[in-house]
Amino acid sequence: MTQMKETPMTNSTSQPPQGAAVSLENLVRTYGSVRALDGLTLKIDPGEFMALLGPSGCGKTTALRVLAGFELLDSGRVMVDGVDLSDVNARKRDMGMVFQSYSLFPNMNAVNNVAFGLRMRKQSSEVRRKKAGELLEMVGLADQAAKYPHQMSGGQQQRVALARALAIEPRVLLLDEPLSALDAMVRAELRDQIRQLQQRLAITTVFVTHDQEEVLSMADRVCVMSRGHIEQVATPAELYARPKTAFVAQFVGISSRVPVVVTDHEVEVFGQRCPVRSGDSSAVTGAADALLRPEDIAIEVDPDGKGFVTRKSFLGAMTRLVVQIGEISVRVDVRSDVGSDIELGSHVRA
Ligand code: ATP
Repeated sequence: MTQMKETPMTNSTSQPPQGAAVSLENLVRTYGSVRALDGLTLKIDPGEFMALLGPSGCGKTTALRVLAGFELLDSGRVMVDGVDLSDVNARKRDMGMVFQSYSLFPNMNAVNNVAFGLRMRKQSSEVRRKKAGELLEMVGLADQAAKYPHQMSGGQQQRVALARALAIEPRVLLLDEPLSALDAMVRAELRDQIRQLQQRLAITTVFVTHDQEEVLSMADRVCVMSRGHIEQVATPAELYARPKTAFVAQFVGISSRVPVVVTDHEVEVFGQRCPVRSGDSSAVTGAADALLRPEDIAIEVDPDGKGFVTRKSFLGAMTRLVVQIGEISVRVDVRSDVGSDIELGSHVRA
């Protein structure tokens, strides 16, 4: 495994690093009849790692490209540290971007790729060489400086792309599915390393991905989007435990939908009465749908039980069962040592 190094980046001041505050205000971007961004408003704190998550076509990439200055807005403002950048050219926004396709210059070796932005900023060759060297060391590639992109693995190329994005000391780091093209092992490794580096440099970061595991493990907060607007902005744990809408509950994590009846701020699920949290339930009585997390359902083998196990998948520490109860099918996670004793077709009580 390649380790990232604790090398400090050359900084013009000795101040501890502090990221920029980003404010996206009522962004609207249409393409013909499609409202890719439909009044999106989002505040990102200095040094925060914000993930944009949502189904394909919900506007994540458009939001990132608008922030970078690659897309124009129909209306709304992009503010960074209180300054309106909406009409500022992408090159002058001081943002570093890493794409899914590594997008390195094929005719430049690693060190020259990293130094590219510094050359554009007319830094001396000595500063360029020193800084590119430091950054390559930071991403664990000091020994690969002379290699060209085609001589490096996908993970190494993406590290070079990250070093290149950081070289200009960007005010905001934009990551557009940077791990999607990598295999699972490299992805997990690079995920941790990007997060460590981002925290160490305290750089405000916006990350777009489809991968929920990436989002939940990396982000300070997640912005869940649907059709160009925001459904919820919250920490990963809050999103999972207290989704504000059915869309978020179903999109983040796994859940099973069970029809229930709500009476007196309680709901009956599989014969068991559960309280409905006050605040969430004030307007709800009568028929509703409950969304149940697989780890929140307990089952017991019982020959008289109304449910029976129709599927069983071993996931390592946990085993996921699909249990049919009448017309409802629910997913249930049990510890694998418990799951190994439950046969397919067993009758169970939930
Ligand atoms: P994905 O996860 O599939 O990349 P996304 O959430 O990033 O999707 P966007 O790429 O932002 O979504 O697209 C949002 C909507 O805007 C989609 O309906 C898309 O088809 C449309 N769109 C994006 N760019 C253009 C364009 N250049 N011309 C026309 N329509 C576009």
